[in-house]
Amino acid sequence: MRVATLFKRLLRLGGERVLGVELEDEDGIERVVVTVALAPRRVSRCSGCGTRTGSAYDSRPGSWRHLDMGRVRCVIRAEVRRVCCSECGIRTEAVPWARAGSRFTRAFEDTCVYLVKHAPKTTVAALMRIDWHTVGRMIERVVAEHAASREGDGLDGLVRIGIDEVAYRKGHRYLMCVSDHGSGALVWASPGRSQATAEAFYRALGPERCQQLRAVSLDLHGGWITATRAYAPNALICADPFHVIKLCGDALDRVRREAWQALREEDPGRAAFIKGSRFAVRRRAGNLRPGDRTILDELARDNHDIYRGWLLVEQLRAVYEAASHDDAMALLDDWILAALTSDLDPFIRCALTIDAHRDLVVNAITQRLSNARLEGMNSTVRLLSHRARGYRRLSSLLAMITLVCGRIPVALPT
Ligand SMILES: [Zn+2]
Repeated sequence: MRVATLFKRLLRLGGERVLGVELEDEDGIERVVVTVALAPRRVSRCSGCGTRTGSAYDSRPGSWRHLDMGRVRCVIRAEVRRVCCSECGIRTEAVPWARAGSRFTRAFEDTCVYLVKHAPKTTVAALMRIDWHTVGRMIERVVAEHAASREGDGLDGLVRIGIDEVAYRKGHRYLMCVSDHGSGALVWASPGRSQATAEAFYRALGPERCQQLRAVSLDLHGGWITATRAYAPNALICADPFHVIKLCGDALDRVRREAWQALREEDPGRAAFIKGSRFAVRRRAGNLRPGDRTILDELARDNHDIYRGWLLVEQLRAVYEAASHDDAMALLDDWILAALTSDLDPFIRCALTIDAHRDLVVNAITQRLSNARLEGMNSTVRLLSHRARGYRRLSSLLAMITLVCGRIPVALPT
């Protein structure tokens, strides 16, 4: 087999002709350089937008990093036309082996993006021998290509959705994420967590698809509730159980901390015991570890406030076991009364919040809706955000989240 034919096959080239293959050394880095010629009578397309363009302006050499050949880097070099696009102005023409605007071949990019879904960034950067910053753009291109290839905007057919916020950049900033309870996939994400962010989502959905929403689960975030009521009148609004229980768990935390503060000076030993009870009181009754029971028995004997708080959290969890709407309503009312008369300030505040949203709490019980899957996504996003620390652009992080949580398929070039 001739070398030119061999490389044409190895690189999976189409109608292009291989002019030559050379091993070059640049700054001590060896690379196989495959020079190819595009078909002379081809139709030129703009590399910016992909539309057909007319006359060529001039031509210039371009190069694209391809998958390594053995232990050596591989580069495709070709003379490409510069074309005049009515939208983008003067641009180089698109080439069949690379995405528009990329210095890497499609096969190389697909491999990087596939790896990024599964491996830490340092691994990807080391294995592929690339600068991490370029990976963000690769993901953006893959995600944009997927969005362009599917029909519509990916927001069709939504019936039950969950809205949640996800912290990124060490918790200083927030993304609002919308997921489909049907598929479990993320369908929309945007920076911010205000009422305006939720309104932006509902506007993107449009009035017709908003009418089709039957249930929206969210945390007790005033702005989101207002926006949902205004835009999705047919949707039952459900208070996400995770957030409701967390509200109550936080109240217990406050009671425990106050008890610790009060005892710190007069009885350090007792204070240390209360501090150490932190994890035991967070566990639900069915989940207690050996030893937790003893801690709880001691709290029941000597620290009535903390024990009463723990029982209140348990009682609220039990509300979620209710079989019917009426049962749930009755159990929740019992709980609100118990919390309001508990004499524990944090629980009284918590009960007032829950009382103000009791319909939403009960809706979640009857609809069996929770953002639990979204919460799983929350930790994924935190991980991604951590992995994506090198990204300079928010758009790269959003693309990464869309890639992983939006379930965008990436095929390995084989
Ligand atoms: Zn163009």
